[in-house]
Amino acid sequence: MEDRLLDISAQGLRLTQQRNQPSSDEPTLPAPAALRAAETTLPVPGTSSYLAGCAQEDTVRHIVEDIIPALNGQGLSSRYFGFVTGGVLPIAEWADNVVSRMDQNVQVHLPGQTISTTVEHVALEMTAGLLRLGDGAWMGRTFTTGATASNVLGLACGREHVLNRRLGGEDTVGELGVLAACLKAGVSEIQVLTSGAHSSLSKAASVVGLGRGSVKELRRSADKPWELDLGALEAALRKPGVASLIAVSAGEVNSGGFALKDVAEWGKVRELADKYGAWIHVDGAFGVFARALDEREAYKTLRERVEGLTLADSITVDGHKLLNVPYDCGMFFTRSPAIMQSVFTNPNAAYLSAGAPSSIPSPLNIGLENSRRFRALPAYAVLHSEGRTGFATLLSNMVQLARNVASFVRDSEHYLLLPEGEASVDDDIFMTVLFRAKDAALNQVLVDKINQTRQLYVSGTSWAGEKAVRLAVSNWKVDAEKDFKVVASILTAVAEGREFSIDNV
Ligand SMILES: *Cc1c(COP(=O)(O)O)cnc(C)c1O
Repeated sequence: MEDRLLDISAQGLRLTQQRNQPSSDEPTLPAPAALRAAETTLPVPGTSSYLAGCAQEDTVRHIVEDIIPALNGQGLSSRYFGFVTGGVLPIAEWADNVVSRMDQNVQVHLPGQTISTTVEHVALEMTAGLLRLGDGAWMGRTFTTGATASNVLGLACGREHVLNRRLGGEDTVGELGVLAACLKAGVSEIQVLTSGAHSSLSKAASVVGLGRGSVKELRRSADKPWELDLGALEAALRKPGVASLIAVSAGEVNSGGFALKDVAEWGKVRELADKYGAWIHVDGAFGVFARALDEREAYKTLRERVEGLTLADSITVDGHKLLNVPYDCGMFFTRSPAIMQSVFTNPNAAYLSAGAPSSIPSPLNIGLENSRRFRALPAYAVLHSEGRTGFATLLSNMVQLARNVASFVRDSEHYLLLPEGEASVDDDIFMTVLFRAKDAALNQVLVDKINQTRQLYVSGTSWAGEKAVRLAVSNWKVDAEKDFKVVASILTAVAEGREFSIDNV
C-alpha cells in the first residue's frame, strides 16, 4: 500500500515548501456565522442519526467542511498573538502524525523492543543542550503535557525534597503523604515563595497538597510586580517550623519580566535556599528560551536575566509554545532522578519492570502518567532539523517582530507601552508586548476592536488596575516586516476609528 506519510522525497518537498513560505493571511478567528453553523452540525442525543455511525468519508467531510472552518487560526495564521500559543513547525506536524501512526506507549524502558524511550532521552539531552543547561547535569528529566504539568512536577519534587531532608532517614513524603510527613518532621506549613507567578503555579500547589493559599507573592515593588523581593524572601524563609519552595518566574506572563535580574541575584537566592533548606523551581515556560538566543548585543540583557537559571533545582520548559511543536508537550528538568522516583514510583508492578538496569529510567516512574504518547518525537524532529542556529534564527525573528511592535507603540500618539517607563524596547522586550490606548473609552473596547478585524488576535489583561492588551509572539511563521506592517495598520485604523482592510496594507 502506498504510504504518503512515510514517502521521504514527497514529504521532503512538501516540508521545504511549507517551511519557506511561513507568514500567512489566514484569518486569526473564524467568522461568527461559521461558529454558529458548526454548532448546528454536531450530533444531538435523541435524534435518529445519533451514534448511528456513517461512512468514514462522511466523517471526514463533516470535519473538513463543518468543524475546521470553526476553529481559530492559532496554527495557520502568523498574526494570532493571543495567550502564548506557539505554532507548529511543518517537521513537527509531520513527526506528530508519525507518532499517531506508530502509537508507541512510552512508559517502560524496553531498549530491546523499541527505541522510543532512548529517543525521548536524547531529545531531552538536546533540549538541555539548546538551552545551555550544561552537559549531563540535569539527569532527572521527562516530557510532560505542558508547563502546568511541569509545574506540578516541580512542586511535587520540591515538597519531597524539603520534607525528606527534615525527616532525615528512610521516610519520604512519597510513602508517608504530606500530612504524616509534616507531623513527623515538625513542619507546620509549606510555603511557595514567588513573584509574578503564572496561575498554574497555584493550581500545581493545590494538586500536590500544599494548597493555593501556600503561594505567597513577594513583590519588590508595585511597578515591577514580577521582581522577587529578596529581603522579603529571606524574612519568609526564616520563619520557624516552615518548609519553603521558591518559585522563580522566568518570565512573567503579562510583561515578560524576569523575577531575577542577573547571575548575582540568582546566586543570592541559591545561597538563601541552601541556608534554609528550600527548593528552587523555575517556571521558564517561555522565558527559558532566552538562553537559546544567539550571542548578539541586542540580546545581552535577556541572556543576563536567565544566566543564573542553572542554579535552580528544577525547571519548567514548554514545548508547545516557543519550540513550536503541537500540543501537548512540555519538559521538566531536575538534577536528581532519585527525587522524581521518590514521588512517582509505581511500586509492586512486576509486569511494568524494565528488566536490565539502565541509565535511562522508565518514564512511568519519574512522571505523572503511566501510558503516554511518544510526544518526544516532534520535539526531537525540531531539534534535529533546526539545530541550534536554525532555532536561534526563528527566535530572533519573533523577538524582532515583538520589538518592532513595541517601538511602534512607544512612539505612537494613541498608545502607551507598559509597564510605563520601564522596558527598554531594545534590551528587555522578548516575546510579549503590553500596552493600552491613551483614550480611556477606546481602551475599554480595544481588544474587541482589534480582534474584530480577524487579521490580528490579541489577549486582554489588566495592568495596574486598568485594562491592557497583551500581544505575544510565539509562532515560527511570523514575518518581522510584513506582519509588523499589518499590526501597525490595524492599530492605527482602530485608534482613528477607521475600518481596516487587509487589501490596503
Ligand atoms: C503558558 C504558561 C504556563 C502554563 O503552561 P501550559 O503549557 O499551558 O500548561 C505556565 N507558566 C508560564 C510562565 C506560562 O507562560
